[in-house]
Amino acid sequence: MLETPHTLVGAALATKIPNPFISLPLALASHFILDKLPHWNPHLYTEKKENGKISKKSFAIVVLDSSVALVSGILIALTQSKSIMHFFIIIAACFLSVLPDIVESPYFFLNKKSVLMEKWVIFQKSIQNNSNFLWGITTQIITAGAAIWWILG
Ligand SMILES: [Zn+2]
Repeated sequence: MLETPHTLVGAALATKIPNPFISLPLALASHFILDKLPHWNPHLYTEKKENGKISKKSFAIVVLDSSVALVSGILIALTQSKSIMHFFIIIAACFLSVLPDIVESPYFFLNKKSVLMEKWVIFQKSIQNNSNFLWGITTQIITAGAAIWWILG
């Protein structure tokens, strides 16, 4: 799944569940649960295997998606936190909600390879529920919308 819906769900959990010992593990767990929903994202693994690198279009999508995720995470933390501590908990939840993908980024973007990282990439790929573009974007808009609705509700 794209990083923006992941981040919004992580932010929503930390906004609504005050106890970080509950919200932070949930934020990390939400990553794997959301990847089980049918979704579309750029096919980084296939591009890497077939062409040795990520296409320009996919790279642009990743940069845009990561920027939106970063800005929305900070905005939610700024506007929804009830204390300085809560602010950092929301930021931490955003980070944990995308951590499984951040771990992969050196593999895709810096050409770093290790047996462990390759194993992780293949594991993450195996739990992805990929679908076609239209349906796969719709499910992510619904996920993002639900998270925002929960935050503001
Ligand atoms: Zn993922």
